[in-house]
Amino acid sequence: MPSKLAYALVPALAAMLAASGAAAQTTAPPPAPPPVFATTKVAGTENVYIFRYQGHQSMFVVTPAGVIATDPIGYLRPQAVTTYIDEIKKVTQAPIKYLIYSHHHYDHIAGGKPFKAAGAVVVAHQRAKEHLARLKNPDVVVPDIGVGNRHVINLGGTRLELHYVGRNHSDNSLVMLLPKEKIIFTVDFVPIETVHFRNMLDSFIPEWEDSLKRVLAMNWERMIPGHPYAGGRLGSKQDVQNLLQYMADLSMAVKAAADKGQCWDTAVKEVKLPKYEKWGGYAQFFSGNVERYCSYWGRGY
Ligand SMILES: [Zn+2]
Repeated sequence: MPSKLAYALVPALAAMLAASGAAAQTTAPPPAPPPVFATTKVAGTENVYIFRYQGHQSMFVVTPAGVIATDPIGYLRPQAVTTYIDEIKKVTQAPIKYLIYSHHHYDHIAGGKPFKAAGAVVVAHQRAKEHLARLKNPDVVVPDIGVGNRHVINLGGTRLELHYVGRNHSDNSLVMLLPKEKIIFTVDFVPIETVHFRNMLDSFIPEWEDSLKRVLAMNWERMIPGHPYAGGRLGSKQDVQNLLQYMADLSMAVKAAADKGQCWDTAVKEVKLPKYEKWGGYAQFFSGNVERYCSYWGRGY
């Protein structure tokens, strides 16, 4: 029967085997890495697809009158965009009518020129259009249309609603809702079982939580995220609830530290939320999340 001691010896044994070169024969080969890109039709739909390239993904919708594409995800990798268009063309010969940006961050929306060249009208929130016009990044197509709080695209029998739910991970994130299919596409501000990226740059606290409550109030069942969750599962309302709980727990823990004068460095080192240790990004980014809330509770911004 294995004892605690036996388990404790395993790492030491593994180190010895590795040192002696024996590990190569005793260790199973690592799992094959996932393919660079993949296109999948969302189960239960006729025409909703997910295009993933490495760690980013976009939704596209195919109708007889044309295609509505989202986020070109071509930042520093133009081949992602040409692959994306090739993948659409494998599904349909209908023209690509729209390219919609989820928000203005380059890792999701750079590289859209081939879509524009194919005739797509580029749509984003009005403030995304303003940021991108000011930034003038040569790899970013400035949107043709900047929308307000609500915008509807009807194409070939499909209705796609663009909802602005307030400031969160940026000041211009759009939720894309397919009301018939009860599917939403959200990017970066509703990660699934994953902590927020780094120290939550470009974030708005506490408005972010308000925007999540607005997402919960919308009529949908499945969420396509802008970064694939392990295994490719889609998000649910429970995931949004869990994220809200995470942000509430994080906020409360950091406020307590700030009240004791521990922001920044001590709190960043010492605040932990073991309940979320298994979430994606915890080891790498949790301390950054603490830093962000330290600025909120310790400095007021
Ligand atoms: Zn972003």
